[in-house]
Amino acid sequence: MKKIAILGSTGSIGKSTLDVVSKDKEFKIEILVANKNLKEIIHQIKVFNPKIVILNNYKTYLQIKKKIKNRKIKIFNDLSSIKKIKNKIDYTISAIPGIAGLEPTLEFVRLSKEILIANKESIICGWSLLSREAKKHSVKLTSIDSEHYSISQIIKNYKTDQIETVYITASGGPFLKLPKDKFKKIKPSDAIKHPKWKMGKKISIDSSTMVNKVLEVSEAFKLFSLRLNQYKILIHPESLIHAIVKLKNGLSIFLFHQPDMKIPISNALNANNFFLKNFKQNNNEFNKPTKLNFEKIDLKKFPVVEMINKINEKESSLIVFNAANEVYVDQFLKNNIDFTAISRYLNLLIKDKNFIKISNMKSNTLSRIKEIDALARSFSFKILKENQ
Ligand code: NDP
Repeated sequence: MKKIAILGSTGSIGKSTLDVVSKDKEFKIEILVANKNLKEIIHQIKVFNPKIVILNNYKTYLQIKKKIKNRKIKIFNDLSSIKKIKNKIDYTISAIPGIAGLEPTLEFVRLSKEILIANKESIICGWSLLSREAKKHSVKLTSIDSEHYSISQIIKNYKTDQIETVYITASGGPFLKLPKDKFKKIKPSDAIKHPKWKMGKKISIDSSTMVNKVLEVSEAFKLFSLRLNQYKILIHPESLIHAIVKLKNGLSIFLFHQPDMKIPISNALNANNFFLKNFKQNNNEFNKPTKLNFEKIDLKKFPVVEMINKINEKESSLIVFNAANEVYVDQFLKNNIDFTAISRYLNLLIKDKNFIKISNMKSNTLSRIKEIDALARSFSFKILKENQ
């Protein structure tokens, strides 16, 4: 039986993973990590009977301790408790959003044979550290972000010098057709309604501003051995093609699948030997006419896309950009700033001399990454206060 740990089990990726795993007797849930969704955690404990549950939120931890009477299930409040675990986990799914996901992912490197990473912020902010640790412990790291999983499935068949361009497709989010002059009125409840994907709040806001695609370009740049200018973002509203690799020989290879994260998750868990028909899924997509549209991104509406070069220049600039984006997304969700302010403040931030200063700091250890993240957060608030 393959043992599974899920970091962020009560979230969108976590629940999709549990759905995949529940249909396959080969998998056993060993560890669940979550934060504060009491009802969902209790449900998951009852259904999946994990050996260990780790809850980041102290109040929820105490409530769960009180409610779960089964003494065989160990319930912890902090990650350091996993240091006591000796047996290896076959797959860890890393799906805690934001840079908050980096430390748990690093902790699970020692314990896992393979880590399937949905948490792109871990890759963007801590890739050299993560890959160094993974090498030390002989752990395989696989991105299950749908675009990156698709890119990896195509480019494994070609040599780097055969590849001209990799197109990272974007649905365009909820505001693809909304005129720019209406952007100021966008409410958090509008921005979290993604037309194609059902996801957590943070990534949904990132999709609506296009920051998600900007982060995905950086993620691809970290993962694959291509130059930054070989990645291009392409709007594809149907969200059916997840990667396009244009070769120098004139052929372009497309990877098609339904917009459902269970597809990359289950294929990654099964070395691509997975039968979709076991799921109640729409896999008759070619029975009716299927339109595939592609268009260029409107940079006036989505100005963050123009920041890609600048935020990939220095050793730590992505950590600074990511921290600032987390701050502004949170402020937008709390109705403290308007929608357009997210990209406006990010633009002010990357043009400030402090951006270069912090970006030049070394980020080769977790404590340095945390230090840069904290500095970037206070710098982001300063920009916000000075320009509100
Ligand atoms: P959600 O917001 O739906 O879920 C977040 C999960 O993380 C919840 O289980 C939450 O617990 C838990 N969590 C949050 N903070 C902590 C913490 N400090 N310690 C422990 N657990 C914590 O997010 P998504 O599933 O949508 O996204 C997860 C990651 O995957 C993100 O990085 C995102 O960018 C990436 N991703 C997501 C995709 C998607 O389709 N959703 C697609 C591609 C990538 P609780 O609910 O108990 O509070």
